[in-house]
Amino acid sequence: MVNITLLLWISVLLQVAAVIMALRLIPLTKKALAWSLLSFAFFLMASRRTLDLLLGENLIDDPFIHTLSTRLVALIISLLLLLGIILIKRIFVQQQRDADQIKKLSLVIEQSPSASVIFTPEAIIEYANPKYCEINHTSVSQLIGQTPLFLSSEQTPLSTLNKIWNKIKIGGVWKSELCETDAHGKHNWSRVIISPIKDAKDVITSYIATFEDITIEKQQRLTIKELSLHDALTQLPNKNYFNQSLQLAIKDAGCKSQQLSVLLLDINNFKEINNTLGHLTGDVILREISNRLNYVASQNANHSLARMGGDEFLLFTTDTTPEQTLDLANQLKLAIQHPLYVENRNFELSVNIGYASFPEHAKTANELIKCADVAMYAAKASSHSIVAYQSNLDDGKLKRLELSSHFRQAAEENEFILYYQPQMDFSDKKIIGAEALIRWLHPEYGMIPPDDFIQLAEQSGHIYMITEWVIANGLAQLSQWHKEGHKIELSINISATDIQNPELVSLLETELIRNKLEPDFITLEITENSLMLYNKQTISALIRIAELGINISIDDFGTGYSSLQYLTKMPVSHIKIDKSFVMKMLDNDQDAIIVRSTIDMAHNLGLTITAEGIEDEETLEILEILRCDHAQGYHLAKPMNNQVFLSWLSHYNSRL
Ligand code: C2E
Ligand code: CA
Ligand code: CA
Repeated sequence: MVNITLLLWISVLLQVAAVIMALRLIPLTKKALAWSLLSFAFFLMASRRTLDLLLGENLIDDPFIHTLSTRLVALIISLLLLLGIILIKRIFVQQQRDADQIKKLSLVIEQSPSASVIFTPEAIIEYANPKYCEINHTSVSQLIGQTPLFLSSEQTPLSTLNKIWNKIKIGGVWKSELCETDAHGKHNWSRVIISPIKDAKDVITSYIATFEDITIEKQQRLTIKELSLHDALTQLPNKNYFNQSLQLAIKDAGCKSQQLSVLLLDINNFKEINNTLGHLTGDVILREISNRLNYVASQNANHSLARMGGDEFLLFTTDTTPEQTLDLANQLKLAIQHPLYVENRNFELSVNIGYASFPEHAKTANELIKCADVAMYAAKASSHSIVAYQSNLDDGKLKRLELSSHFRQAAEENEFILYYQPQMDFSDKKIIGAEALIRWLHPEYGMIPPDDFIQLAEQSGHIYMITEWVIANGLAQLSQWHKEGHKIELSINISATDIQNPELVSLLETELIRNKLEPDFITLEITENSLMLYNKQTISALIRIAELGINISIDDFGTGYSSLQYLTKMPVSHIKIDKSFVMKMLDNDQDAIIVRSTIDMAHNLGLTITAEGIEDEETLEILEILRCDHAQGYHLAKPMNNQVFLSWLSHYNSRL
């Protein structure tokens, strides 16, 4: 009997231990409490059973204990059991609810049309949905434990990886376009959003990346780009493409200390063929010429041939001496002169070729092409059909005449057009103004960008004629905008020689009055370099312009000689930091430092500052942090003609 009693007491002790264990599950959760209540109930049941036995054996004979054990303890046990059971039921219901919710959420991700991946802070994939597996031709089991594909793809540059990590590790959301290499080695482009997932204590536990497949869209963009870089008639690269490859070749030649030559070919009397035999015959002849030129050029190892437009072709050769270039020019000339048989007729064509070399004649693509152009005009004017560039050719009387007739005609026949690029105020994100940027809509060559003719106009003394046109048309347009309720400002580019022109101030005054404009809505942009040439005359002209109430801004700031002297001497109110610094500031610390210190310096001098050349959201955000005043760049909008500009403006304003 003693043994049974002992066993019963041991059981009581075990129950007590269970209660203590349950209570030790701190923090005291509902679960722990439920188990404690049940354990306590069992403990009391066991104690009561023990007492029963002890009483039965007459080991205890106390009526009080008996009453307590039969009534009170039974009641307490029932209560404890009831409470414990209710609590457990609640826990199960809650758990079921949580499980249902998780199931629903995981179904959303599982069946989402966007590809999604969840990865740990150590960049290890924990989960990938079926869409992600489908796009990348892989399976969940192959992905789990691996690094996300976009992080390991050689298509994602190291600098981009750094940017991603720097942003997401501090809890930021990263959005951009990324390329992944799938299991078949194919490149997939996606619009990606990576966001951190945080726990209740705000600690990042993992990241979710969602991908929208834009591979087809990207291919279409590439095709459009490809088309815009090729001439449809001859399938040769066009001038844009030529320019881009020439820039790269110049860089390369500079590094290797090699020479490089640009040749410009112009077929004689081609217009007459077009006019007398029709454009279709002209096209056949142009295609044949391009085949011949291509053949000759391909015999020379390092070359690139392009059609510049009309009957002009461009070619550059790398690693060539001037003698080899002359030899090549002769071969090209012979190829064109060789009789051509088209539509039962024999044609004998002739050509003029001008060429210029790097680094001897010029150091940039545009300048080299311009030098080759000058040489080609000299060839036309002389009895030699091949001419190498010489600096004194620039003064050639014939070329000046040729150009002047072009510019005059362009202004007279309204072949110029103004494009407008918006400028935003960082403080309220409103559009405060636009920069007027000229283009030449040439009847034969199409849209000519200002970089291709402004310098020529400056050199040939025709720039003021263009400036007059820009001021008259720009101010008339601004007045029209104001009448339509767009109270914005207009910036106009002015060349160095314009400021020296005694008529500029009175022209501005007349146009202000004619268009009933407040002068404060107009800014003249003058490049830093042209201000370097300042003299008394320039300063007094600028002071008179400022006295009219017109603002003066220094354009392309940072590309000049960085003398602060003129900033304090000139009536300048505004600075535009050159786009070359802004465009590279994310990748180049030196440029970022220049941008930051220029902003600080401008503010210290009480000037406002515009950053131009902003091409992405990140640069825009950083410039705002650096307290830049105004923003301009492709990210906001490219320069647009008046009609497109106005609808862009309405759309922008409606979203504010
Ligand atoms: P700019 O005064 O520095 O004008 C800004 C140039 O940068 C414009 O080129 C504009 O299209 C381009 N740009 C603007 N945002 C971005 C960007 O985010 N990225 C990049 N890569 N470029 C951007 P555009 O229109 O070809 O003009 C070139 C230059 O021609 C102007 O440089 C200016 O010096 C000159 N120019 C334009 N119009 C006139 C004019 O009416 N008179 C005079 N004298 N010069 C003009
Ligand atoms: Ca400008
Ligand atoms: Ca500029």
